[in-house]
Amino acid sequence: MPIYEYVCRGCENEFEAWLRKESEIPTCPSCKGVDLEKKLSLPRVHGEGSREKAMRAAKKRDSAQAKESTYTQEQYEANHDD
Ligand SMILES: [Zn+2]
Repeated sequence: MPIYEYVCRGCENEFEAWLRKESEIPTCPSCKGVDLEKKLSLPRVHGEGSREKAMRAAKKRDSAQAKESTYTQEQYEANHDD
């Protein structure tokens, strides 16, 4: 389902609309107006992809750090168990 971004000419509200058909015309959620300007959604889709990648990298890093701190804790306990 394609997502389109619109700017309402009536109230300048920016919103996204999921259209099932290309011919479907959304209404502004703010003023219910239909005088809308369609924006290109491609840059946003690209942005979401790299954000997802960044999130995955951050999760990887976090779990690596969690492992490391567990290891450090174990080392500490092993060295101070006398
Ligand atoms: Zn509006």
